[in-house]
Amino acid sequence: MTKPMIERTRDALRARVAHWRAEDETVGVVPTMGALHDGHLSLVERAKAECDRVIVTLFVNPTQFNNPDDLDKYPRTEESDREKLAPYDVDVLYAPTVDQMYPTGFATRVSVDGLTDVLCGAHRPGHFDGVATIVTKLFTQTGADRAYFGEKDYQQLQVVRRMATDLDLPIHVIGCETVRDPDGLAMSSRNLRLSAEARAVAPALNREMRAMARKLHAGRLASDLRAEATERLLAEGFEKVDYLELRGAEDLELHDRLIGPGRLFAAAWLDDVRLIDNIAV
Ligand code: AMP
Repeated sequence: MTKPMIERTRDALRARVAHWRAEDETVGVVPTMGALHDGHLSLVERAKAECDRVIVTLFVNPTQFNNPDDLDKYPRTEESDREKLAPYDVDVLYAPTVDQMYPTGFATRVSVDGLTDVLCGAHRPGHFDGVATIVTKLFTQTGADRAYFGEKDYQQLQVVRRMATDLDLPIHVIGCETVRDPDGLAMSSRNLRLSAEARAVAPALNREMRAMARKLHAGRLASDLRAEATERLLAEGFEKVDYLELRGAEDLELHDRLIGPGRLFAAAWLDDVRLIDNIAV
C-alpha cells in the first residue's frame, strides 16, 4: 500500500510514460475531478486489472462548469484522494494546475455536434466542449492505451467515444457500470453537498426511474410516465426536474415508446445540487 506519486506537469508525466513505453508496458488512464468515491475506485480497479501501468488524473476543469458557483463549491480533497488510491497501487496521480492545462494564449476547443444538443448538453451550455477539450488533452498528454469512464455520466461517455473515433486518437475508451449506494443513489462527488434530509430523499430519483422502466416495458408512454414521476419527485422535495427521458442507447435519439435497447436519463435538483442518473431499459 503506497500512495501514488504526484506529477504536476505534462513534461514530467511524459518522461515517466516514456520509461514504461521503453519496457513495452501498457498504460491506462482514469480521468477524474477528485473527491474520490467507490464509483471512481471501481474504474481504477478495472484499469489495474487490464493495464501494466495506471495514471489517475485529478483536475477540476474550469471550462466544463457552466455555473461559477458549482465550480467554487466543487469539493477539493487531494490528500485524502491520494490515500484512497493507496490500496490500488496506482503509478501516478496526475494533478496539473490550471495554468499547466490552459496556458496564456490557449484558444482551441474540441466540440462534438449532435450528441451534445440534448440532455445535459441542452441544460449546461458549453459543458461538453469543456469535457471534450480537456479529455483530448489528457489523452494526448498521457499517451494511454486505454481510458476508463463511468456510465454514471453516460452522455459524456458517448461524447468521448465519438471524439476519440473522429479524431483518430489511438486509445480504447471503456465504459464501466454505475456504482450505487445501497439505497440506489448513484455515487457522486456532489452528493457530499446534500444535507442529511436531502440525502434521505435523493434515492427517490433512481426509484422513480426503475418504476418508469417497468412501466415502459408494459407498453406505457414515456411522456405520460415522466409527468407522473415529476409530480411525485416535486412532492418528495426535489426543486426541479431538468429532464426525465427515454432515448436510444447509442444515438441518444428521443423515444416515447420502448422499441429497442433504450436508456432512461434523469437530471433533477435537490437541495441546490443537480443530481443525474441513467439506467438501461
Ligand atoms: P468525475 O470526477 O465526477 O468527473 O468522474 C470521473 C469519472 O468517474 C467519470 O468517468 C465518471 O463517469 C466516473 N464516475 C463518477 N461516479 C461514478 C459512479 N457512481 N459509478 C461509476 N463511475 C462513476
